[in-house]
This record gives sequence, C-alpha cells and structure tokens, in this order.
Amino acid sequence: MKDFWLGLSVLSLGLGLGSWLDVTPWGLVTAVVSLLVIYVFQIDRVTRTGRRLQTQKSGHSGWVVPLAKKIQDLRFGLEEEISELRDSESKSREQSRSRRAALEGAVAEFRSLIDTFPDGLMIIDENEHVLQWNPVAGKAFGLSPALDKKKPVRQIIRAPEFDALLDHSGSEPIEFWSSMPVPRFFSARVFALQNLRKLVQFQDITRLRQLEEVRQDFVANASHELRTPLTVVHGYLETLIDHAPDETKSELRHIFGQMHAQTTRIKRIVEDMLVLSRLDKESEPLEEQLNIREALERSREEGEMLSGGKRHRITLDIAVDSVLRANREEFDSVISNLISNAVRYTPNGGAIDISWWVSSEGGYLSVKDTGIGIDRQHIDRLTERFYRVDVARSRELGGTGLGLSIVKHALSRMDGELNVTSRLGEGSRFVCRFPVNRLN
Ligand code: ADP
Repeated sequence: MKDFWLGLSVLSLGLGLGSWLDVTPWGLVTAVVSLLVIYVFQIDRVTRTGRRLQTQKSGHSGWVVPLAKKIQDLRFGLEEEISELRDSESKSREQSRSRRAALEGAVAEFRSLIDTFPDGLMIIDENEHVLQWNPVAGKAFGLSPALDKKKPVRQIIRAPEFDALLDHSGSEPIEFWSSMPVPRFFSARVFALQNLRKLVQFQDITRLRQLEEVRQDFVANASHELRTPLTVVHGYLETLIDHAPDETKSELRHIFGQMHAQTTRIKRIVEDMLVLSRLDKESEPLEEQLNIREALERSREEGEMLSGGKRHRITLDIAVDSVLRANREEFDSVISNLISNAVRYTPNGGAIDISWWVSSEGGYLSVKDTGIGIDRQHIDRLTERFYRVDVARSRELGGTGLGLSIVKHALSRMDGELNVTSRLGEGSRFVCRFPVNRLN
C-alpha cells in the first residue's frame, strides 16, 4: 500500500508539474522514470539484506549442520542398536527363562528322588560339614535344619568305624552302631562328588542285625544243648562196643558200630558249629605273640597222627622264623582244618607240604597236597557253610562241610585272606596271607 501511494503521488506530481510548465508528456515520463529508479533501489536493498541474512546463515551451517547430521545419524544408529538389543535381550531372557525352568525341573526331580530314596543320604562339604540330607537320614540321626546344617558330620555320627570310613573314603561299606537319637545299626558308604564334596549313603540294618544275632544265638544254643546228650550217647555206645559180651550177635555189633560212627560225625558237626558261633560272637579275641615254627611243628605232628596208616609224606619248610600276633585257638583251627583236609582228600602215600615265608605283602602259610584236586567251578564256593564238592565222599571221610568256612572266618578276624589254587586229579594249594602289621 505504501508503494502504491508513493507511485500515485510521484505520477500526480509529474503530471501537475508537466501541465503547469505545459510539457505534460515529459512530466509523466519523468515521474515514471523516477518511480522505476525508486523501485530498483528498493529491490536492491531487499536483495542485499537477503544475501546478508543468507551469508549469516551459511556461516553457522559450516559446523552446525554436519554436527546435527552426525548427531542425528548417531541417534538413528543408537536407536537401531537399542531396538536390536531389546530384541536380543528379550530373546535371551526367554532363553534363560526356559533354561532356568528346565534346571528347576531337574533340581525338583533330583530332590524328590533323594527325598523318596529308601536309604539315608547326606552331602558333606570339603570340611566334612553337613550341607544337605534327605528325610530318611534326618530321621535316623535326629537332624534339625536349624541346629545341624553346617555341623561337622563327626559330631552327628560318633562311631570310630564311621571316622575310619571318612578318613579312607573306601568304596567298601562299613557297619556301625549309632546311639543317637535311638540305638540303630547302620551300614554306610561314601562317594566322592565334585568340589571335594562327599555323598554318604546309610542303610538302617538294625533289623537284619537282630535277625543275624537271633540266628547266631540259635545255632550256638542248639549246639550247646546237643553237645551234652550227644557226648553221653557216644560214650555209652563206646562202652557197649568195648564191653559187649562175646555172645552178642555180629549184626548187633555192626549196628553199634554204625551208631558210634554217626554220633562221631554229629559230634564233629556240633563242635564245628560251636567254633563258628564263637568266631561270630567274640568281637575281640585274646591275642598273643605266636611262634610260627612251634605252632606249625605241632600241626605237622597232628597231621601225621591223622594220616596214620595212610602214610602221607608231610614236610614243613619255614623260610624265616616269625612271630605272629593272633589268637592261638583261631590260628590253630586254620592250620588244623587245612591239614586235615589235605590228609582227607589225598590218597595214601601222597605228599603234603606245609610252608611259611614272608614278603613285603605279609606272612604266607601254604598247605599243598597231591590229592584229588578241585574242579575250577567249585573253588569260589568252597568257604560257604556246608558246601561240599562231593557230599558222599566228604561224609565217608568224616568231613562236616564247615572246615573251610571256619578257616575263612578265622582268617578275616586276623585281617588275613585265603587263596585257593587247584587242578583236578593233581592236587590243591591253600595259601593264607597275614598282614605285615601282625608280624614281628
Ligand atoms: P569238609 O568237611 O567236607 O572237608 P570243608 O569246608 O573243609 O568241608 O571243605 C569243603 C569242600 O572242599 C570239601 O568237601 C572238599 O570237597 C573240598 N576240599 C577241601 N579241601 C580239599 C583238598 N585239600 N583237596 C580236595 N578237595 C578239598
């Protein structure tokens, strides 16, 4: 509007002046030219102002724009990474959730397995402190989580046998009495776990033990009760045979003879059963220092007496004189059973060699014969009670079927072991090993 009024005024002024001077066209032309000049100036000013502003603006854009661009790029990049991270985070969260669920499932399964396990289980750490136990173990030893967690296991179970099991971590189970909270008899084993931890497995065998005691008592009592009447009958039979009038029929004599032989056999069985009962019952036999040479000389003489008319050649070879810590009766029953077997199962005139030697592994007692031998399939079972390769032959020769089980039992009480090698028809060898710590 301002420019319009300016233009109108300049044109009117040009027209007025032209008509007054009487040169109207020139006045109009001058006014138009003047207006043009004014407009050109105005355009020039506007253009310069615009350029200045442009210059000012482009002066900032030298670092602001790239920076802004970079920031924007960075932001976009970051947003992208954040969204990727979010994606992978949610993915890994899902993965770890499912892994955790699987682990929790496995742990719950393991827990329920342990909880329902019929044996007692206890986990102890490297310092033998109790970490966990299942309900069976908790009940057996009266454990409470508040009082007994992290408690030394030896304070919970006070038994020297259990201490030895922890010290040696053997795979063989041990048996022990635990008096707390009530007296119970346990069998225990230890298994090594990761991180030096150990798993202790317990079995309450109190009932089994009681039954075993009842059985042992029964055998011991029955043998005792049988022994006296048997001795009486046996003695009377001997008297009858010795003092039978001459006119007694030979048939009757034969019957007396048979009765005497049978009572002799029963007497032997009863005696062997009493020996086994004693070995079962007596927990700590009286031990002494036995002179091996003397003991074996005596046994050899007994063997010769036993052999009698069968004329076996019995030799004794002692490589080194030794003294053995053992119960005399038990040691004698080992050697006499081996020699009497050798005499019994070796044909007339055969050889029986008794020998003793010592090595770094211990002392060895061997009884070797040139008898009937034993088939391989029977060897592992020879020490079972009443196990005989040939029942009729054993009976005929006066065997009881208990000799080798007495040998094995007596040896185990001396921490020894029996080894049998034999060849059918060629002979047998029975070797007893006694541990080094029993030798002097
Ligand atoms: P038994 O009283 O019958 O001899 P043992 O327990 O002493 O019982 O021996 C078990 C079985 O082992 C015997 O019946 C016999 O078959 C076999 N046996 C033991 N010693 C010998 C041996 N020296 N030679 C051959 N067989 C033997």
